Amino acid sequence: MFADDGPLAKHIEGFKVRAPQLTLSESIETAIKEQQALIAEAGTGTGKTFAYLVPALLSGKKVIISTGTKTLQDQLFKRDLPIIRDALGLPIKVSLLKGRSNYLCLHRLSGEGIEHYQLDKATLNDLQEVRRKAGRTQHGDIAELTSIPEDAKVWPIVTSTNDNCLGADCPAYNDCYLVKARRQAMDADVVVVNHHLFFADMSLKEDKFGELLPKAEVIILDEAHQLGDVASKFLGQTLTSRRITELLNDTEVEAITSADGDKQLLQAIDRLRTALAELRLQMGEMSQRAPWDRLKGKSAWLEAKEHFESEWLFLVGILEKLASRAKGLENCWERATELLQTFKQLTANTPEQQIHWYETFSKSFSLNFTPLSVAEPFNDYRAEQEAAWIFTSATLAVGDDFSHFSDNLGIDDAKTVKLDSPFDFARQGIFYVPRDLPDPNNPAYNDAVLAAALPVLRLTGGRAFFLFTSFKALHHAAEVLASERSFELFIQGDQPKSQLLAAFRQSKRGVLLGTSSFWEGVDVRGEALSCVIIDKLPFATPDDPILKARASALRQQGKIPFLHYHLPNSIIALKQGAGRLIRDVEDRGILMICDPRLVAKDYGRSFIQSLPPMTRTRDFAKVRQFFERQHEIISD
Ligand code: SF4
Repeated sequence: MFADDGPLAKHIEGFKVRAPQLTLSESIETAIKEQQALIAEAGTGTGKTFAYLVPALLSGKKVIISTGTKTLQDQLFKRDLPIIRDALGLPIKVSLLKGRSNYLCLHRLSGEGIEHYQLDKATLNDLQEVRRKAGRTQHGDIAELTSIPEDAKVWPIVTSTNDNCLGADCPAYNDCYLVKARRQAMDADVVVVNHHLFFADMSLKEDKFGELLPKAEVIILDEAHQLGDVASKFLGQTLTSRRITELLNDTEVEAITSADGDKQLLQAIDRLRTALAELRLQMGEMSQRAPWDRLKGKSAWLEAKEHFESEWLFLVGILEKLASRAKGLENCWERATELLQTFKQLTANTPEQQIHWYETFSKSFSLNFTPLSVAEPFNDYRAEQEAAWIFTSATLAVGDDFSHFSDNLGIDDAKTVKLDSPFDFARQGIFYVPRDLPDPNNPAYNDAVLAAALPVLRLTGGRAFFLFTSFKALHHAAEVLASERSFELFIQGDQPKSQLLAAFRQSKRGVLLGTSSFWEGVDVRGEALSCVIIDKLPFATPDDPILKARASALRQQGKIPFLHYHLPNSIIALKQGAGRLIRDVEDRGILMICDPRLVAKDYGRSFIQSLPPMTRTRDFAKVRQFFERQHEIISD
C-alpha cells in the first residue's frame, strides 16, 4: 500500500514512502488482526494518520477513531479519511459524531419560549442568523455556521443538553439532527469521534437515547496523551452552578409560556437565584481550586447551603403541582429533582477513591468528585469491549519509557512502539537556553525572560510563538512588548483562537502570546513560525487539589510524586510545546527555553533527552548565525 508504485502513491500527489510510517502501519495491522493493544509514539512528520487509516479501513471491521479536538475530528473526517478511502477504492461508510452541544436543537429553535430568554442585542442577531441558516446546514452541526464565533452566547440557547432534551417525547424527534447523526454512526463502518464523546459514552453520562457510540472491533485513540485528563473529567461527577442557572432560565420561560406566568413559580425562581448567589458568595474569592475540606466546616457556607436547599425544595414542590400542564414543565420538575439529588451528593461525604473539591469563578462555581485514579474503570471498560486498541500520539513516552502513560490508564497488556520523526532536527533547528537567568521563583524572573527573548524576537522579525505557563506572565509580557515596532503582537483572549491564528499566519511578523491552549494541537507550517519561546518548564501548580491528592496517594504507595507524576507530566507538556516549531521537512527555526533549571537541575536531563535532537547552544551569537544562515539558504 505504501510502496512507491502502490495505491497511495498513485492517488496522492507528492506522496513519499516513509520508513517509520510503514513500520507503524504494520504494527497497527498486527494489533488489529490479533485484537491486541498497541501504544505507539510517532514523532511529528511520521504520517501516523495514514499509518492507522490504511490498516483500519482494510480490516473490514467496525472502527471508532477518537481525536483530541473537534478541529482535528473535522480534519480527519473531511480531509484524511476520504483520501485514504478513495485511494484504497473501498466502499466504506463513514460517519462523524460529536457531542450533543454541537448540534442545533430543532425543538428549542422552533419553540416560542426562546424569545423570553433575556438576550443581548448581539445574541439576538446571532439567533436570527441561526434561524435563517439552520435549514441550509447539512448536518445541523454548529461548525457549519461559520459566521458566528465558537464562543457566542447563542449556542447554549439553540442546542440541547441532556437535561433539557425531551428525547423520544420530542415533537421534532424524527427530524432531530442529533438523532440522525447517532443513527448514521450506528450504521457506519468507521465513526470519527472526539475524546470527550468517547468518555461520555464510557461513563454513560449522556443516556437519553441509550448508548452514544456503537460497539466497535477496532478503537483508535489519537492524541492519546490527553486521555488521562479527559477520563478524569468524565469518570468523576461535577455540578456547575451554570447548570442550575440554565434550569432556572428554562423554568422561567416555561412559567411564562406554559403556566400563564404563575406568580408563585416566578417567585420561587427568583428566591432560588438569590440563594444560589449567596452560596457562591460564601465560597470566597474567585479562581480558587480547593479541596472540599476547606469549605465543608464553614458555618456561613453551611447556613447558605441549608437555605439554598430549602428554597430548592420549595421550587420542586411548585413544579410538581404544575408538571401535568406541559411537557416542558414536567421536564423542569424532573431536572430540578435530579439536580437537587446531585447537589446533595456533592456536598455530603467524600466517596472512597474520589477527590472531593470545588472551584470558583467570578459569579459561578463547580462541585466535583474526580477519581484518584482512572486506571481501574478504564481497564474494566476495555475488558468489556473485545476490540483492538491503538493508542497513538507524538508525545507518549518519557525518553523511551511508556510506563507513565500505561500506568495512568491501567494498560498492562499493550505492545509499545516508538518511531522517531523523520525530520533532520540537527539541521532544521537550534535549541537555545540563555545564560544567567535567575531562578523562576525570583521576582525578577519574568523581566529577565523578556530581556533574553527580545533580541531573538527582533532577529526573527516576530514569526514566533511565545508560550507561557501562567496568564500573569502572559499579561506582563503583553504590557512590556506592546511598544515594540519590530513585530506585531497577537494575544490569547483578544480574539477567538481560530481567528487569532489566522491573523498570526497572515501577518508574517507576528508574535503570538499564548498559554496552555497554544502548547498543543496548533499547526503553523513554514516561515510564519520560525521561533518558539517557552518561559518556564510547565510544572503544574503543586497546590491543585487533584494533584495534591494524587501525590499523597503515590506517597502512600511508597513512590516519589515528583518522579512518578509531576516530572513525566511536565515532560510530556514540554514535548508538546516544543513540537509546535518543526512541522514539516522544510521548516527551520529556533527553540528557546528560558528556564535555567533545564541545565542546573539533575532532572533537566530528562527534559532535554525527550526533546527533538536539535543543535544545542547557550550562546545568542550562535542563534544569530543559525538564523542568518537559514535566511541565506531560503533567499538562495
Ligand atoms: S430530541 Fe432533543 S435534541 Fe433532538 S430536537 Fe428534540 S429536544 Fe432537541
